Parts: sequence; C-alpha cells; structure tokens
Amino acid sequence: MRVAVLGAGVAGLTAAHRLVLDGHGCAVYERWPGLGGQAATIDVGDGALVERYYHHLFPSDRHIAALCEEIGLPDELEWLPSKVAIFTGGRSHPFTTPLDLLRFGPLSPLARLRMGAAVVLLQRRHRTAEPFADMTARDWVVRHMGRQAYDVVWGPLLRAKFGERCADRVSMAWLWSKLTLRRQIRGQDARGERLGYPRGSFETIFRRLAERIEQHGGRVLIDRPATRVARDEAGFAITPGAPGSFRAGHDPRSFEPAGPPERYDAVLATVPSDVFEALLDRRLAEELGDPYLERVRAAEYHTALCLLMEVDRQLTDSYWTNVCDPGVPFIGVIEHTNFVAPARYGGRRFAYVANYVEEGDPLLELDLDGLLDAYDDGLRRISPAWSRDAVKQAWRFVEPAAQPIVTAGYPRRMPPLRTPVPGLVLANTTQVYPEDRGTNYAVRLGEDAAAALVRSAAVR
Ligand SMILES: Cc1cc2nc3c(=O)[nH]c(=O)nc-3n(C[C@H](O)[C@H](O)[C@H](O)COP(=O)(O)OP(=O)(O)OC[C@H]3O[C@@H](n4cnc5c(N)ncnc54)[C@H](O)[C@@H]3O)c2cc1C
Repeated sequence: MRVAVLGAGVAGLTAAHRLVLDGHGCAVYERWPGLGGQAATIDVGDGALVERYYHHLFPSDRHIAALCEEIGLPDELEWLPSKVAIFTGGRSHPFTTPLDLLRFGPLSPLARLRMGAAVVLLQRRHRTAEPFADMTARDWVVRHMGRQAYDVVWGPLLRAKFGERCADRVSMAWLWSKLTLRRQIRGQDARGERLGYPRGSFETIFRRLAERIEQHGGRVLIDRPATRVARDEAGFAITPGAPGSFRAGHDPRSFEPAGPPERYDAVLATVPSDVFEALLDRRLAEELGDPYLERVRAAEYHTALCLLMEVDRQLTDSYWTNVCDPGVPFIGVIEHTNFVAPARYGGRRFAYVANYVEEGDPLLELDLDGLLDAYDDGLRRISPAWSRDAVKQAWRFVEPAAQPIVTAGYPRRMPPLRTPVPGLVLANTTQVYPEDRGTNYAVRLGEDAAAALVRSAAVR
C-alpha cells in the first residue's frame, strides 16, 4: 500500500516508521523546513540544537523510551534532577518534593496537609480516569483539597495552561493523569524529581526515524506541505505546496501548489484539526460527513507564545518556575540550562519564557523586541539577576494548535482515528486522552494510527 503521511512531527514519523517496517510505501509531507513538529529544534549557533519550545520527558514516558531502544538509541535518554518553583505573592517557592509542599507558605498548614493527602489518596485509589470523565478538575479540587488550594495553586495553573475562558471546564480526567501518571509522591520519587532529555536533543530521535524510514524505501519531504487532499475511484491525491509555504502561516489554502497531485492508496494525517478540515476537497469532506467533521470542529486549542533566549547569566535556581501571579504577563520561566548543564552548549545558557494565549491576544501582535519589553518587568520580579542586557540572542515562536483543551465529557466529542472514509486516518493531539499531550503520547498515537490505517484500508 502507498501511504501519504501528513506531518513529520513525532506522531507522523512514528507512524511512517511502523508502516515502512511493515512493508508499505510511505511519503511524509511536512510544512516546516525541519523534523519534529512541536518538538522541533533550531540551530542556536555553532551547531548547538535547542527545541523551539521547552521539552523534557517523565519517567512514566515508556512509549518514547521503547521507541529509542527499537531505533538503536538505547542510551540516548538521560535522566537529570529537576527543580520546580511557584512564583506567587512576590517570591518563588520551591515546589518539587512533598516536603516543599509542607513548607509552602502561601497555603495554610491545614490546606497543605489536605492537598498532600488528596494526591496520595488519588494515586492509591484510582487506577483509571473513567470515574472523572464528566467531572471538572475545579469541582474535584475544591471538594478534596479545599477552596484555598484551588484559588492559590490549581486555579492559576489551570488558567495559565487553558486560559480564563476554559480553566473552570477542564476535565478532572486530565488532572488525574497529571497527578497520578507522571510521578508518585511516595518511595524514591518523593526525594526529588528526575526528568528525561535526549543527549543530543530531540533532533537525534527525529533524524534516526527519518533515516530508518528512508532506508526502508520511504521518503521524508520537509518544507513540502500538503495543500489539498482529494479522493476518487483510483484512490487519494495529495497536492503538494511550494517550498517556503510555512511563511504564509498554517492555513494550507494559502499555500502555492507545486506541481500536479500525487497518488496514494491511503492517507494518515497528523496535522491539527483545523488544518485537516482545510485540506479536504469538497467531495472528500462530504464523504467524511458532518457527524465526523463536527467532532473535528469541536477541537479547541490554546496558542503557545514562547520566547527562547540565550542569556549570559543564570536567572533563577530552578528548571521550571510556574508563575501564579496575575500581575506577570507570562506563565512560566523555564531555564533549560538549570536542567541540561551549560557545558553541553560550550558554557552557553538558554531560558524560555512560556505563555499560552487565546487567538487574538494582543501579545501575539508584538515582535521580538516588543515581547521583551512587555516581559521586562515580570522577569525582573522573578529574577533579581534579570536585565535586558543579559540577552545575547532571542527567538519568538507561536504554535496555534499547542494545547488541546480537554473539558469534562471529552471522550464523547473526540474524533476516532479511523474516519468514515476507508484508508483515511486522523491522528493529532486532540486524540490524546486522558493524558496531557506530549511526545510520549505522540509516539503511542503514531503506532495506534498506523495500525488503524492498515485495518481501515483493508475495508476498501
Ligand atoms: C510549548 C510546548 C511545550 C511542550 N513541552 C513538552 C514537553 O516538555 N514534553 C513533551 O513530551 N511534550 C511537550 N510538548 C508537546 C509535544 O511537543 C507534542 O505533544 C508532540 O510533539 C505532538 O506531536 P504530533 O506529531 O502529534 O503533532 P505536531 O508536532 O503538531 O506535528 C504535526 C506536524 O504537521 C505539520 N503540518 C501542519 N500543516 C501541514 C500541512 N499542510 N502539510 C504537511 N504537514 C503539515 C506541522 O508542521 C507539524 O510538524 C510541548 C508542546 C508545546 C507547544
């Protein structure tokens, strides 16, 4: 079977890798001039690669660890100590271990104990997310941890990730996965946290996958997006877009076509839901039908606005500082080189200023300098070492489909991987549930999507 895979992010590369190993022909179309999608890297100078958006792995991320083994990178993942803090009430409070929680001054002693006990009980009593599918995280937190825990910690964290409009609707199933899967607060995990990072950046994994796809006869076509997907009696037709189309944004209808349609027996799309719908020609959209497309349209995303900076000094002593302060216009400072040592980069230091915003937020209008101006005061409050002249280089990245918003009742609205059209599969971050989307779950999704495609195409 000849398959077109749309997107060379983790899900697309994993799916294409499985399909070529199973003997299928595969071409991967990618809009960006690089591999890895949301986990893609850039060359920050002297050949050093750093992700556009901060990335790490959790010890429970077994799918990506298994993939590294399979592709001959068994020692690639390194597990490094990490320190987390919460900035609230004008200062940063350590928030890595259970002891940190017990000392967390912004909560009353009773509220701290209640929060710790609620997490332990949740981890012990609930092995699945099912009981929480229709409950909001807010209701559960207020009931089991108390109002103060919601107002001071969880409410601000949920608003940071999902926005003012959606935070109170976020599913408890999503928070259950955060509180139970990633880390136990008993045993060895209680003493500190270790997170994973590939020795040569995430790029090492992507390059190895692309090499293996090509060794098995597949093609990985970066800077070659799909602009249209059609289907007739003979199969599917992909119209490729011209190089440089990524400069025109995300909507494939605005890309210049580059040559005639290319023919395939099946299509596996890993692009965001709105891009998927924009790719369909009218006849194919009709074949998919409204019940399926309504689920695709129900996807809601929060946009990531991320500033990556090379700085000449250490800004904080944490890897990850969550900002729970309405006076600061961003949600976190992630100091990459407090996690991966600066020695890896010849002594250079890198930090991200993280933000999630709604489409149309005025911050999205700002260029790099404007963003640095807007963040200057907040950065000074969080880091006594901050000054604008600490910045040696900076980059600004925007990802519209960064964070799917998982609200109560989500499984009933999630589109299945197999579409009603035989040979057409959709697999994107909106179909990761109940876990928070991440590279590990994109590997699982890619594997599931390849299997779903083979089953779906057999029906034709
Ligand atoms: C700010 C941020 C921080 C994150 N932090 C972490 C973390 O610490 N750890 C972690 O594991 N995960 C993290 N993630 C999430 C992780 O990166 C994603 O869940 C994962 O990479 C998604 O992979 P995917 O292949 O499903 O989707 P994507 O990476 O979105 O891949 C889809 C691909 O489709 C391409 N595409 C779009 N339109 C077209 C078109 N018309 N034709 C062809 N191709 C097209 C895109 O360019 C993209 O490469 C983070 C994400 C963000 C945004």
